[in-house]
Amino acid sequence: MTFELSDRVETVPPSGIRRFFEIAEERDDVISLGVGEPDFATPWAARDAAITSLEQGKTSYTANRGKRELREAIADYVADRFDLGYGADEEIIVTAGASEAVDLAFRAFVDPGDTVAIAQPAYISYEPGVIFAGGDVLPVPTKEEDDFRLTAEALEAAGAADADVLVLCYPNNPTGAIMPAADLEPVAAFAREHDLTVFSDEIYAELTYDGEHTSIATLPGMRERTIVFNGFSKAHAMTGLRLGYALGPADAIGAMNKIHQYTMLSAPTTAQYAALEALESCDDDVREMVAQYDRRRQFVLTRFREIGMDVFEAKGAFYCFPEVPEGFTAEEFAEEVLREQGVAVVPGDVFGEGGAGHLRISYATGLEDLRRALNRIEAFVEEHA
Ligand code: PLP
Repeated sequence: MTFELSDRVETVPPSGIRRFFEIAEERDDVISLGVGEPDFATPWAARDAAITSLEQGKTSYTANRGKRELREAIADYVADRFDLGYGADEEIIVTAGASEAVDLAFRAFVDPGDTVAIAQPAYISYEPGVIFAGGDVLPVPTKEEDDFRLTAEALEAAGAADADVLVLCYPNNPTGAIMPAADLEPVAAFAREHDLTVFSDEIYAELTYDGEHTSIATLPGMRERTIVFNGFSKAHAMTGLRLGYALGPADAIGAMNKIHQYTMLSAPTTAQYAALEALESCDDDVREMVAQYDRRRQFVLTRFREIGMDVFEAKGAFYCFPEVPEGFTAEEFAEEVLREQGVAVVPGDVFGEGGAGHLRISYATGLEDLRRALNRIEAFVEEHA
């Protein structure tokens, strides 16, 4: 017997980067600049708090929305760092990674036939999330000449005025673009004018190297139409602990909690203890990791320019997004540099419109490996370009 797949599952193509992992497995000297995952261990104090909670037998479910103490700490943190005012009781939900928060939002606010505009290039999970919820995706390409920022013109040109939801992610995966407040304002005005709900994925907010991160939810008239996603995976190097959260008006978070309480019950308890400690005592660790990412960012940008590849000035997250030299598609470049030089990078096309002709380079890798990888890319370009 074969299982009859649902149309929604069948519609979603397999991940465009799986093939590269298969090639990478054929060699044992591959340096990977492919994964979007910190190379740092979770700060010790957070790990220690998790261990202590286990020693004390704190292994039960928590409240559906997450431990109250943690929600209070999150409320204080987002107020302090990003000027976001959300109440611990009803306006915050703790989830199994930001991934669960994104999925809950699609399922809570997208009906079959609804249109979800996605600023692209974009994190690869949004599009499948929309499809699993029964919605239709409307790509809104951003351009390198705009520093991959979203503009009202791009929204207009893509037909986003008729969309129901707009998804944006700044600092951006995969481009490393950020959106300063002045650039967010016209996007916010577009959302207000066309009555769009906004999902703002701010998981890389701490990793902003030029000025301070601004959340679109802080702009006039935006709080009531925006859900903000954040989490501990990136800035606190806690990917495997699976902890994130969403912020929004009480009725919206209540709707997300309705799904969460039936499908997840509560986010991982041990991780909640780690996250609480991370917010209470790990600011210095975060600052140190951010400083190291920034040094790597500057090194990688400089090396690409020396190699002669055009690269725009990434200012956030831990990615940069160089253009492939003439004569290659991004996929060809990524495949050949992996086969010949053992460097794994991701072709920009997998992140949707606007990504073609680019590579996503993650610098969540130590400087020594980055140095070796960029030497290999240089050798490849010298030989072929
Ligand atoms: N959002 C973006 C933009 C990401 O890049 C990622 C992970 O790569 C996630 C969400 C998922 O985060 P989490 O580990 O909290 O589920």
